[in-house]
Amino acid sequence: MMDVCIVGGGAAGLCAAVLCARGGIRVTLLEALPRVGKKLLATGNGRCNLTNLHVSPECYRGDRALLSAVLGRFSPDDARAFFASLGLVTYADPEGRVYPRTEQAASVLDVLRLACGELGVRTLTGSPVERVTRDGKGFLVICEAQTLRADRVLIAAGGRAQSGFTGYELAKRLGHTVTPLTPALCAVPVDPQSVRALKGIRLRADVTLLSGDQAVRRTSGEVQFTERALSGICVFDLARDAVRLPDTTLSLDLLPDAADTLQMLCDRAAKMPTRAVEDFLAGLLPKRAATVLLRTAYPGALTDPVSALSPAALRTLAGLLRDWRFHPKGSAAWELAQVTSGGVPACELTDTLQSHVCPGLYFAGEIVDVDGDCGGFNLHWAWTSAFTVSQNIHAPI
Ligand SMILES: Cc1cc2nc3c(=O)[nH]c(=O)nc-3n(C[C@H](O)[C@H](O)[C@H](O)COP(=O)(O)OP(=O)(O)OC[C@H]3O[C@@H](n4cnc5c(N)ncnc54)[C@H](O)[C@@H]3O)c2cc1C
Repeated sequence: MMDVCIVGGGAAGLCAAVLCARGGIRVTLLEALPRVGKKLLATGNGRCNLTNLHVSPECYRGDRALLSAVLGRFSPDDARAFFASLGLVTYADPEGRVYPRTEQAASVLDVLRLACGELGVRTLTGSPVERVTRDGKGFLVICEAQTLRADRVLIAAGGRAQSGFTGYELAKRLGHTVTPLTPALCAVPVDPQSVRALKGIRLRADVTLLSGDQAVRRTSGEVQFTERALSGICVFDLARDAVRLPDTTLSLDLLPDAADTLQMLCDRAAKMPTRAVEDFLAGLLPKRAATVLLRTAYPGALTDPVSALSPAALRTLAGLLRDWRFHPKGSAAWELAQVTSGGVPACELTDTLQSHVCPGLYFAGEIVDVDGDCGGFNLHWAWTSAFTVSQNIHAPI
């Protein structure tokens, strides 16, 4: 019987443990923390958005060929069927995000943990793996208290985002490189001066990330302003590139459906000439957001009548409503990031996630240089990569 050691009892490690054990492999799961699946419990605000019906390689950053191969093996329906086989009932919301019917991430962890127990997976918690070395055709997996021998090793140790332990050093010592790591799916810190007056406001907008003058990506949704950052899912999805690319700007279009914004403002001004400038955008934007924009566009007193708004001020205001710019500043916080962008590069892996550098060694989950958008895509990557490994780990080396 083949012995497999899995480093990391998170989403990918637990899923791989179940699937390998179902395939007749003797599995030891090593988790550094006192309990498995800590991060899983925090997912989806405690509800665990475990996959998405609209999974495709375009929802991820990473090597296209690897993504197509791995995602092609385990669809969102396969993920739901896998969890159904463990007893978990799921539902999809109108956007295709899949959650457990209980709305509790703990249910996802429970069914994985129970299956591991039922299938005889040996789970060793409080066991950070310090080193993995080659031992003939197999491996030695070294923890503080013991050394285990394994025919194959799967490193599913997650990423740097919100993690105390990682597996990057283990991978490096086995000959791998790790691409630069940046926080992803997180708020984007901007010049605090530009957002201080907006703290707490939420606005619907199309958000474009620019690098220099080049539009890199556009998302839409609710933008939330914090004391020093732009937040909200549509911003999260831009965070990795906002940090990685040079000279980036976030441009907010607050009226993406308006045909002619300047004409709309001129009509509005004509209808309410005696209203104070500070109230010109009342009903269109939250008061504090309107005040910031009006102060930028109009040099006079905000108590002036709307009739005092010059054509130039209206043009500036129209421009701001369609292209309100914020400049990322400083690095996003690892402790707020949901995932890690960067990791073990695709060029060092086969399309079954086996190491080219060290045959018999496999990787799954966030440690691989793949990261997905918000919406269940990262957990889907954890399941699909675990599935891929479990189906191929028997291969002779
Ligand atoms: C707040 C938050 C909310 C999220 N919500 C969602 C969501 O709703 N949907 C979604 O798709 N994604 C979500 N994610 C992302 C998702 O949680 C990760 O993509 C996923 O958990 C990655 O799975 P993994 O198994 O690779 O890593 P992890 O789940 O992080 O598991 C890795 C495990 O390995 C252990 N480990 C590390 N190093 C060692 C070592 N040397 N020895 C032994 N053990 C080790 C760690 O302690 C950890 O338990 C969220 C993330 C966060 C932080």
